Amino acid sequence: MRTRYGVSPWVDNFPRTRRPDHPRLRGELTAEVAIIGGGLTGCATAHACAVLGMAPIVIEADRIGQGSAGRDAGLLLPEPGPSFRDVSARHGLRNARRIFESWRRASLDAAALLRRLKIPCGLDPCDHITVATRDDGKGLRREYEAREAAGLEAHWMTPAAVRKMTSLEAPGGLRTGACFTLDPYRACLGLAGAAKSRGATFFERSRATKVRAGAKQVEIALEGGLVRAKTVIVCTGTATSEFKPLRRHFKRREEYIVLTEPVPAAIRKQLAGRGLAISDTAAPRHRVRWTRDDRLLVAGAAQDETPAKKREAVLVQRTGQLMYELLMMNTAISGLQPEHGWEASYGETADGIMYIGPHRNYPRHLFGLGGDSTTGAFLAARVLARAAAGEPDKHDEVFGWTR
Ligand SMILES: Cc1cc2nc3c(=O)[nH]c(=O)nc-3n(C[C@H](O)[C@H](O)[C@H](O)COP(=O)(O)OP(=O)(O)OC[C@H]3O[C@@H](n4cnc5c(N)ncnc54)[C@H](O)[C@@H]3O)c2cc1C
Repeated sequence: MRTRYGVSPWVDNFPRTRRPDHPRLRGELTAEVAIIGGGLTGCATAHACAVLGMAPIVIEADRIGQGSAGRDAGLLLPEPGPSFRDVSARHGLRNARRIFESWRRASLDAAALLRRLKIPCGLDPCDHITVATRDDGKGLRREYEAREAAGLEAHWMTPAAVRKMTSLEAPGGLRTGACFTLDPYRACLGLAGAAKSRGATFFERSRATKVRAGAKQVEIALEGGLVRAKTVIVCTGTATSEFKPLRRHFKRREEYIVLTEPVPAAIRKQLAGRGLAISDTAAPRHRVRWTRDDRLLVAGAAQDETPAKKREAVLVQRTGQLMYELLMMNTAISGLQPEHGWEASYGETADGIMYIGPHRNYPRHLFGLGGDSTTGAFLAARVLARAAAGEPDKHDEVFGWTR
């Protein structure tokens, strides 16, 4: 079997004839809210704004959902990514607790929303287990104790419990609920569809080239078009060239993913862990999940972004390395072939948490940028829609630029 490189199976396996095709934006349009970026954050925000009656316009440079969102691992995780101890050390215990509680709630709310909207995106609940690497048992134990002391949901797992649940050898594990697996591309398209039925309008192949804020409105220039809005919400994943001064807040990183062929029943019998998403404490970390059609997906090997001319060779090397590391976790998968190997880039923030909210140097702008979290897209959607409606919640400041 030959591995297909560089193509996200979520996008590739979605029938082309059913992919929505939105027009390019031409001429001048006016809206209460304009959203730049039609990834998961943009689509979820469009839906949240549309529900509040704001009839947003979404401007996507390429195709809806085909940026990082359509290329990610499809894990709706109940935590933002960095450890609770790191977030507490940086932002204080109270803020760290708020951030973690908000993330957990956002994961549950996102799943409830996708169900309520009947979006067929393969949404399945699972437990999330973080396993310690061989020399990090004490570190993970301290993380568990910090979470427990803060009143956050966390369960400690002994080596025997980890082995039983995951078939992995580890000095300990941390189990949390409120986790879901999904197909992120279908989730994105479904949210866009639901937003449209509530009055949102989508444009594709329409790149915003300049954004200028005036006293009463903001103007977004595109090649061949102009949008005037009361508020612009920027959901471009990371700060793009239109927002050069903000770029210093983000480091361009990339992560790799491998999806295997369906795991034969004989191997499945030797592997525990169905109904689980597993992360580890390695640096860079790994994340492993199952798909509904019995494939294993492993994400990891995160690193600084590779220059374009080396990307192809690095993709083959890094995905090969990931497959090897998966084999080292459990030799029962020996012989299992990778069917897809791909990568995606994201904007890493200094504390690993997305920036959500206004920025004092950009009037009439709201931002939902950075971080490495699908759940963050849903959290941002709520925060941003509230702010666009003129009803920001003071507690949302923990996600803002001045946190
Ligand atoms: C390999 C990988 C795996 C991941 N796995 C997980 C996971 O399992 N769980 C998890 O929680 N998180 C995961 N993440 C993180 C997650 O994918 C992202 O945080 C999230 O999907 C980003 O969505 P987004 O909508 O903010 O950005 P994007 O999906 O990148 O969307 C931004 C959109 O903006 C558009 N755009 C950019 N500039 C302009 C412009 N000037 N005008 C108009 N449009 C513009 C782009 O074309 C793009 O479509 C992963 C990330 C990577 C890289």
